[in-house]
Amino acid sequence: MILMNDFTAEPHELQEAMLTAVRRVLESGRYILGDEVLAFERHWASACGVRYGIGVGSGTDAIEISLRALEIGPGDEVVTSAMTAFATVLGIVRAGATPVLADIDPATALLSRASVERCLSSSTKAVLLVHLYGQMRTMDAWLALCKSHRVLLVEDCAQAHLSAWRGKGAGSFGAAGAYSFYPTKNLGAAGDAGMVVTDDKVLAQHAIRLRDYGQRVRFHHDEPGLNSRLDELHAAMLGERMKWLPQFTARRRQIAEAYRSGIRNTLVQLLEPPEESAAHVYHLFVITSPKRDALQTHLEKQGVLTLVHYPLPIHHQKPCRDLARDPQGLSCSERHASRCLSLPCHPQMSDNDVNKVIEAINGFR
Ligand SMILES: *Cc1c(COP(=O)(O)O)cnc(C)c1O
Repeated sequence: MILMNDFTAEPHELQEAMLTAVRRVLESGRYILGDEVLAFERHWASACGVRYGIGVGSGTDAIEISLRALEIGPGDEVVTSAMTAFATVLGIVRAGATPVLADIDPATALLSRASVERCLSSSTKAVLLVHLYGQMRTMDAWLALCKSHRVLLVEDCAQAHLSAWRGKGAGSFGAAGAYSFYPTKNLGAAGDAGMVVTDDKVLAQHAIRLRDYGQRVRFHHDEPGLNSRLDELHAAMLGERMKWLPQFTARRRQIAEAYRSGIRNTLVQLLEPPEESAAHVYHLFVITSPKRDALQTHLEKQGVLTLVHYPLPIHHQKPCRDLARDPQGLSCSERHASRCLSLPCHPQMSDNDVNKVIEAINGFR
C-alpha cells in the first residue's frame, strides 16, 4: 500500500537524532518553556524571515492567539476561505471574533480576492489568508488589498512550511503568521504543537502572555489567557526534524513534478502550477475529477491510499451553516469539495511508488 504519510520509513539517522533529543530533555529536568523552546523559536522565526516566534500548543491556538494579540475579538469580523481546515475557522471563533466566508479561485483553490472584497464590512478587522496545500500566490496584491481597506493580513501557514513568495517566507507578509506542527504537516511534531511568527515586538510580547495564562510576571495575570505552551520535548524533536525539512521539501517538489508531467487522463484535472517553485511546498498534491469518488475507489484497489481535503466546504459544517458569507455564494468551494482528491506526496515515497500512482491514475476509465 502507498500511504499518505509513512513516518516509520523515515531515515534512521533522523530517528536516532530525535531519540537523542528526547534523552537530552529528560536529563535536563526542564520540561516547559526552557532552552529547547527558545532555540526552536529562534530557528523557526529565522527560517520564516521574521524576528519573533512564540511556541504554542497547536495551530488552532496559534490562530486564536495571533488574533487576540492583535486585539481582534468580539464584534470584529475576520474574512477567510470557505475551503480550508475547520481549525482555521475554529481559531477565529475561539478568539471571540466572527468568521465571514469568502469563495476560492477554482484554478488554485486559494482565496479569491474578488470574493473577499464582497465580504468586507465596516466591522472587518482582518483577512485570514490560508496558504492552502502549501501554495503562496500574489502576496503583493493581498498586501495592497488589505492596506487599501485598512484591515490586517494574518496568514494561516499550517500547510506552508518553507513556502516563499519572491524570496519572502510564509508568515512574514502579514501582521502575524500561524503555524501548526501537527504530525502530518510538512514539519510535524510527535504530537500537537504550533507557533505564532511575527516581526512586531508588541504583538510578540502579548502572544507570550496569552499562551501562559495571560501572566506578565509570574503569578500576576493581566487577562485570561490560555494554557498553550510548546513543550520542551516537542521543541527538541522539531529542532532535529527541521534540519531535514529542506531536503524533504525538495523531494515533495520532485514528486509533484513527476505527477505534473506523468498524469494524463481526461477525467483528471491538475491545479494551476505555482508562479515560482519556492511558492509551493506541496503539503498536499491535489487533483480534481468529476468522478472523484470512483477514482478514489479505483486507486485504493490499485494499492494507493488517498484523502479528500476537504469533503465539505466550511459553510456545510454543522456549526457553520449560519455564518456570514460572500453575497454571491460559495459555489467554487462547493464544487471543489465535491471533486478534489489528495494524492500521496510524502518525502519517503520511492520513484517506483510515484510511477505506480501515475499508472493507477492513467488507467482509470
Ligand atoms: C492543520 C491546520 C490547522 C490547525 O492546526 P492544528 O495544529 O491541528 O490545530 C489550521 N489551519 C490549517 C489550514 C491546517 O491545515
